[in-house]
Amino acid sequence: MVAFAAGYFFPHDAKPTRTMTVTAYCNCERCCGWHLDEAGVPVFSGGPLKGKPKEIGITASGKRTTAGTVASSPTGLPLGTLLYIEGEGVFRVEDRGGGLQNDQLDMWFPTHEEALQWGRQKRRVTVLGNQKNQ
Ligand SMILES: [Zn+2]
Repeated sequence: MVAFAAGYFFPHDAKPTRTMTVTAYCNCERCCGWHLDEAGVPVFSGGPLKGKPKEIGITASGKRTTAGTVASSPTGLPLGTLLYIEGEGVFRVEDRGGGLQNDQLDMWFPTHEEALQWGRQKRRVTVLGNQKNQ
């Protein structure tokens, strides 16, 4: 944890370690709630951005989904929160999932098959801090 000491802070409401439900998603239309409109443009299927163009594979924080990306509920952990997920490694909250609970994380996978394989697992999750300027 020493490596994370400089430049990070603990969100004051965050409990450092807790058990969370970890689900999985990929960039596909089923996982991310989008579809192609009549013009063939990917658009959001629901939520506040319904009908608005959706850039596939771009997270709520504006980054490209990659290994280490997780999504939290809109009222859950702040974007930029660094987490250690027991048995999996270090992840950063880069994305938002409207259907997620506050004690739930959605872990990104490159394919839908891998996301299905993960399914739904309970894991110990440690909040390492928050990367402020990323
Ligand atoms: Zn998917």
